[in-house]
Amino acid sequence: MNTARMTKYLLEHDRPNCIGCAACVAVNPKHWAMNDDGMSDIINAPHRPDGWQELEIDEEDLEANKEAAQACPVNVIHLKNKGTGEKII
Ligand code: SF4
Repeated sequence: MNTARMTKYLLEHDRPNCIGCAACVAVNPKHWAMNDDGMSDIINAPHRPDGWQELEIDEEDLEANKEAAQACPVNVIHLKNKGTGEKII
């Protein structure tokens, strides 16, 4: 069974509510970096008109981003299964 490899996930950052603590960057520097405005960014992810960012990620990047989300003290990092819409965190 390697269907899990095909699964896509949506990583979302509620940037307007980010407090810029940098925990996500410490946990997952592959996907997270601090921005000059004092908040973090999902690296190479577009900024939506509502101020959030979103990025489609693969299964292999799920665990590291789940850890970043769990490290966030204000819970502004979200993950969902793109196919089913199931909220992971
Ligand atoms: S851990 Fe959360 S609050 Fe801290 S910089 Fe990252 S997204 Fe922002």
